[in-house]
Amino acid sequence: MKNIKLFCTKCNKGFPADQIHIICDECNEALELESVQQGKICEGNLLEQSIMQRYKEFFPSLDIDKEVSLGEGFTPLVESKRLADKLGVKKLYFKNETQNPTWSFKDRGTLTGVLHAMKLGYKKIGTVSTGNMAVSVAAYGSKANLETFIFVNRTMASEKLNPIAIYGPHLIKVEGDYGNLYFESLRIGKENDIYFINSDVPFRVEGYKTLAYEICEQLNFEIPDYVVVPTSAGGNIRGIEKGFEEFKNSGYINKAPKMICAQASGCSPIDRAYHNNEENISRFENPKTIAHAIENPFPPSGNQVLRKLREKGGVFVSVSDAEIVTAQAMLAREGIFAQPASAVPLAAIKKLREENKLSGDEKIACVVTGSGLKYTAAFEKHNLKAGDCKLEELGSFIAENY
Ligand SMILES: *Cc1c(COP(=O)(O)O)cnc(C)c1O
Ligand SMILES: [Zn+2]
Repeated sequence: MKNIKLFCTKCNKGFPADQIHIICDECNEALELESVQQGKICEGNLLEQSIMQRYKEFFPSLDIDKEVSLGEGFTPLVESKRLADKLGVKKLYFKNETQNPTWSFKDRGTLTGVLHAMKLGYKKIGTVSTGNMAVSVAAYGSKANLETFIFVNRTMASEKLNPIAIYGPHLIKVEGDYGNLYFESLRIGKENDIYFINSDVPFRVEGYKTLAYEICEQLNFEIPDYVVVPTSAGGNIRGIEKGFEEFKNSGYINKAPKMICAQASGCSPIDRAYHNNEENISRFENPKTIAHAIENPFPPSGNQVLRKLREKGGVFVSVSDAEIVTAQAMLAREGIFAQPASAVPLAAIKKLREENKLSGDEKIACVVTGSGLKYTAAFEKHNLKAGDCKLEELGSFIAENY
């Protein structure tokens, strides 16, 4: 791993990539692995490859171990002509990340985080999460045969605990401030040799680059004008942006799409800072949204997302819970059942179009980050119905009602 470095996204200070470094010790900002300048797709039998094998030249600091893969990535990019017409955009695609091993894009970053932990010789990994990341780390920890620690809030309901517990990690409910738990986990990790693969650690962000590589390949390198990402900590949007840049460096595409950072109005610290012309984000007090997966009130990569999208002409937008629920229904009618957070990109496009902030001539890809089955409480918002009749009346029931 010699010569490969992490850099501070703000002050550019370098850190070795063969140790765990999460944030800059000078300015507390996010670190990032240096970009690949010249990589090549490893062509060959897709059915035989893992994402790490296909894109291994873009991960020079990791040893590829197919044993750790659960078949993450290579998710479908589904075009919807009907919704493109309805919203008035040229082309609309959904990158369906619900089809990952634990039903969200988190698996891509968990895989690269686990590979880094193994490369550094760690036997223990962990995370702090209440949602998709906890499930993902628990699954990959088991697959890689690592001792796995998951810290969750004391108040977490058992229907959310069990989908984590089933993978057999050390699952610990912790009483106290959840924001502090994140920092405490890093301290405990240091003391106990546990590699915490939290929300935006550099080697988690690395894995998210593969989302961009796949979109390029799936569109035969005719990239979209915009990629819309529901954003919480900011790890995913950073990784996707970096992936497109690396494909540009490598000559696969000649320009990168613009990123749209989409948040829920009930928790939109990055969108708010942008529209208030602030240099830095500030804590979003009393967050409240149905999109729980993107409810981080003080995203650790928030400032970097602001800097990056400002530099590259990205777009910031937030949408209400009502708009999110509407978009969730629209997506389901296209055959894709997303959790509320994952319907945010579609809601964002609808809103930007209605406000004429998109001309209608754009080709757009929305990242559908996670499955609707992860949050069944949202069913209540949809007024869902079923007919009801006796067997001998079924014929007349249909004739009368449909
Ligand atoms: C984690 C998550 C997000 C947000 O990703 P960040 O990297 O935290 O910005 C969005 N949608 C779903 C379903 C998630 O699980
Ligand atoms: Zn710094």
